[in-house]
Amino acid sequence: MATSAPTSLPNPTRGPVLWAPRHVLVTASAQAEPHGQAILERLAAAGVSDVRLLSGDRLPPLRGKDDRETYARAKRTLAVVTSAASKRRPTPIPPSADFSFPLAEGCPGHCQYCYLAGSLTGPPITRVYADLPRILAGLDEVVGTGGVTSGTEARGHEGTTFEASCYTDPLALEHVTGSLAATVAHFGTHDWAGPVQLRLTTKYDDVDGLLDLPHHGRTRVRTSVNVGGVERFEGGTARVPARLRALGRLARAGYPVGLTIAPIMPVDDWRTAYGDLLDAAAAELPADADLTVECITHRFTPKSKDVQLGWYPATKLDLDESTRSRKHGKFGAVKYVYDRDTMRELRGWFEGVLAERLPAARYLYWT
Ligand code: SF4
Repeated sequence: MATSAPTSLPNPTRGPVLWAPRHVLVTASAQAEPHGQAILERLAAAGVSDVRLLSGDRLPPLRGKDDRETYARAKRTLAVVTSAASKRRPTPIPPSADFSFPLAEGCPGHCQYCYLAGSLTGPPITRVYADLPRILAGLDEVVGTGGVTSGTEARGHEGTTFEASCYTDPLALEHVTGSLAATVAHFGTHDWAGPVQLRLTTKYDDVDGLLDLPHHGRTRVRTSVNVGGVERFEGGTARVPARLRALGRLARAGYPVGLTIAPIMPVDDWRTAYGDLLDAAAAELPADADLTVECITHRFTPKSKDVQLGWYPATKLDLDESTRSRKHGKFGAVKYVYDRDTMRELRGWFEGVLAERLPAARYLYWT
């Protein structure tokens, strides 16, 4: 079976990219949650009819005859589940934020370099959590507990930061879950023990439902952007100009915003291409936007390479270890990054050009 083309709802007016799952599985515990029932109503409204209500909490096996078939089946399937206690516990996640927490796990996008290939196990089914109120209630206990980034100069005023996009792209699923809007409103209106910020990054553009929320400046939406030579690896996502337009709308609605430039790759004529990208971002964003920039170069691990080649055997992605430097991450895990000279050249160029073309932006980190 060929890897499926991204499945989308009909979209004749070129509106936002909206994923429609082909199959939906709903566990018994998820069916009992009010948010799980709201998700079922949204799926019905979106015209999704193949919905299987399970009598227990185990998902049926999805494996196909090979990795590609398993991938295609899983990517067409949405599972509505409840979170295990170990999954919903806020986890330190430097340098992006103090803590991560999950709204979902898995993503309908088809990015060939996706980091989820190395961090999730099993078929890449998208799981959304029906017990959202329980997940959000668990955040209170870590507010003000001295996370990893809240003490830094660039972040101190933001308080305790929570990243919602470590294991998913929350905006990709919003039209069928409503979880992101509920989370933004919770951050904006809850009586917290100290300052907090919700953070997410996205390659999607369906922001209509976020514009009028009581966010109170406590959610920073970043859009993940790249140049054409890298965007070609990002199947099923919104195109970069649409992402930037959506970010501009959020900034005009008072949201703090950000650019996640990732994964940076030294493609042909990269200086011109990335320079044009920064100019396009500057043109879409209001001059007074509260804007941050994060720069993440391409990297891979032995595990992510293995999984990515199973899913995309014909990929043109550069996964050649012999041209890379080996780095040891947390717990001794090996990752392959660009060599020192390439890194120095990229970083020097980006830092100079960011100061020139987006002078009001706060540059958070390079990695
Ligand atoms: Fe992975 Fe993000 Fe692409 Fe989804 S949009 S497949 S999370 S890189």
